[in-house]
Amino acid sequence: MMVSSVHASLGALLSAHQSIGVPEPLKLAGSEAQKQKFLPRCAAGAISAFLLTEPDVGSDPARLASTATPVDGGAAYELDGVKLWTTNGVVAELLVVMARVPKSDGHRGGISAFVVEADSPGITVERRNKFMGLRGIENGLTRLHSVRVPAENLIGKEGDGLKIALTTLNAGRLAIPAIAAGAAKWSLKSRASGPVNGCSGGNPLASTARWWRRFPSLPQRVTRSSRCWSCPARWPTKAATTSDRGGTGQAVVERDGLRDR
Ligand SMILES: Cc1cc2nc3c(=O)[nH]c(=O)nc-3n(C[C@H](O)[C@H](O)[C@H](O)COP(=O)(O)OP(=O)(O)OC[C@H]3O[C@@H](n4cnc5c(N)ncnc54)[C@H](O)[C@@H]3O)c2cc1C
Repeated sequence: MMVSSVHASLGALLSAHQSIGVPEPLKLAGSEAQKQKFLPRCAAGAISAFLLTEPDVGSDPARLASTATPVDGGAAYELDGVKLWTTNGVVAELLVVMARVPKSDGHRGGISAFVVEADSPGITVERRNKFMGLRGIENGLTRLHSVRVPAENLIGKEGDGLKIALTTLNAGRLAIPAIAAGAAKWSLKSRASGPVNGCSGGNPLASTARWWRRFPSLPQRVTRSSRCWSCPARWPTKAATTSDRGGTGQAVVERDGLRDR
């Protein structure tokens, strides 16, 4: 929440990395060896991403089409598929990839979760997606083509992947309201307290009212016709009037039905 009061894209980066990326599924279902191998890297700064969604699979991840085919007598898996909306996927060092293991002799099969090195041969980040908001988010489209992953990178057992992914998302998604609340609080505060972060004028209503509270002897009637350059165009442009109500020295600014004390 605090990070997102600076920039929501940073909140998204942290959330995708630590709430749904490699650390959370490993905490939930990883082996001791996996925790020893990957968690110190994540703590030291290796960014991770969570690759579940596909171009044709979003709310219904049980239909995912990416495959993980056992090779080398079960010593490794070969991953194939396309993953969409991969937050951090463009910059990540480690990935959690959900893919379906086909049922075969000695393999229970089903959707399974793997830790994958992002620089493995066969992984291509095909593009960085653009969003209307969250413009700093490193979210992309990743193609996996015969990506070899050692069997020791399977998280939990074959077929556990969907449960691991959804359990991870249950807790991980709690970051989203925190991000939204942090950004909203910052926005409200910046509008209510005048110039911030290079904003040339801030909220003329709030800052004018504060000015008159501090200096009640100033002329009690002003008009303002210009608006802050940094504020959205929808900020009202009609002139504001300021007056001292009842001789209390407390200024009241009224404009377009808005009132700020
Ligand atoms: C900013 C952002 C970051 C993301 N980061 C990641 C990430 O890091 N990793 C990852 O794997 N994915 C990520 N995603 C993808 C996200 O998880 C999916 O967008 C989400 O699962 C929804 O899937 P979809 O976009 O395909 O929408 P759809 O599943 O196509 O849904 C579209 C609409 O239809 C509705 N709908 C769907 N099914 C039904 C139904 N049965 N009944 C009624 N209504 C229905 C939905 O509620 C929605 O309104 C990210 C998405 C965004 C926007």
